[in-house]
Amino acid sequence: MPMRPSVVALLVVHTFLTPIIARSEVVRMKVTAYCACGKCCGWSNRGGVPKDHRTGKRKVVGKTSSGVMAGKGTAAADLRYYGYGTKMNIPGYGTVRIQDKGSAITGKTRIEIFFPTHRQALRWGVRYLNVEVQR
Ligand SMILES: [Zn+2]
Repeated sequence: MPMRPSVVALLVVHTFLTPIIARSEVVRMKVTAYCACGKCCGWSNRGGVPKDHRTGKRKVVGKTSSGVMAGKGTAAADLRYYGYGTKMNIPGYGTVRIQDKGSAITGKTRIEIFFPTHRQALRWGVRYLNVEVQR
């Protein structure tokens, strides 16, 4: 018995469109951790004003390069590969969104995830993980 055209259409949609719409890719990455502190983010408090080491400009502590405040689920990546808002699943941490960048965070296989305290960031350490990138 020949398939009805609607069934064929559904199969076509499912086969060709699903991977495009819900495209995800697993990338093995070096996952490091950071917090908002001067050590992690390259600023120091001179004369009562936090200043960025690289730019010399006043630093808003805890503000990501995208403009939103960092929190649980914030991550930094190389924006040439992963733009702002890219969602990723980090085993042992959860879902993150790329909202930040870092001078040391370069390449397709580097990501840095945010923790509220330096202590927690240190506890995470350096991990090599299979990260699911959602496109
Ligand atoms: Zn820190």
